[in-house]
Amino acid sequence: VSTPRYRGRFAPSPTGALHFGSLVAALGSWLAARHAGGEWLVRIEDIDPPREVPGSAASILATLDAFGLSPDRPPVYQSTRQPLYETAFAQLRDADQVFPCWCSRTELAAHGGLHRDGHCVAPPDPTRPPAWRLRTPDLTVRWEDDLQGPQSENLRDVAGDFVIRRVEGLWAYQLACVVDDAEQGISHVVRGADLLDSTARQIHLQHLLGLPTPGYLHLPLVLDAEGRKLSKSAAALPVDAADPMPALRLALDRLGLAVPSRGGTPAALLDEALRGFAPAALRRSSLGASPTL
Ligand code: GLU
Repeated sequence: VSTPRYRGRFAPSPTGALHFGSLVAALGSWLAARHAGGEWLVRIEDIDPPREVPGSAASILATLDAFGLSPDRPPVYQSTRQPLYETAFAQLRDADQVFPCWCSRTELAAHGGLHRDGHCVAPPDPTRPPAWRLRTPDLTVRWEDDLQGPQSENLRDVAGDFVIRRVEGLWAYQLACVVDDAEQGISHVVRGADLLDSTARQIHLQHLLGLPTPGYLHLPLVLDAEGRKLSKSAAALPVDAADPMPALRLALDRLGLAVPSRGGTPAALLDEALRGFAPAALRRSSLGASPTL
């Protein structure tokens, strides 16, 4: 089996029903993958049980289906992939790239808020497990975002010694995401611009782990009336799987794309949208106005 040149993905966290902002990200990554003649996968990022809403993974998948956004392979669940993260973590630990950290929020705040010195400022506490942080170098990572253009970010200034494994033994998003994007052979990451500032950390982790760096394209966000990002946790505007057409049309519009007049079903509308799609036509900046569904 040959690997296609383009393999994209949508990676929702199951913290509630699919909301409009996530639909825009799913649609954008789907269009980019289909336009390139590539595959499109879905990964359920269920590595944070305290934040998980039972039933939401199934509901997200059913909603995507109702919108005509069906993945080319069975969805992958991060909760089933602990050994992969364990292996990557061991690789970082063996290379002395991580350190155990017992600092509380208060201690960190007293320290300026970000860990930057590659060692814990609190004394080791043998009675409780530590978090594990990456020793972050004073390094400016530069990359080209396929929509947002040239980017650069200093790891120390923005992220400091960021957590790789949390106190509860839970894996941090940055590690799991990097491991899975590589393991799944993702060639292009298309996602919301709220994750633009995670990209430098992810590229750095890829270098440390000897993994390839995919292409990145960060889509505009849909903001609420107050200019805040719509988030799943705020349960903002879940989309209606029983009535996909209005939300699908609006999602195309939010992406800056022409809304085809033809196409009475999600599949037909997507077909039309794909015909006229070009990545360069995507809107670059986030929209402040609240959408009306
Ligand atoms: N699971 C993340 C979220 O829902 C997205 C991760 C990604 O696309 O890299 O915000």
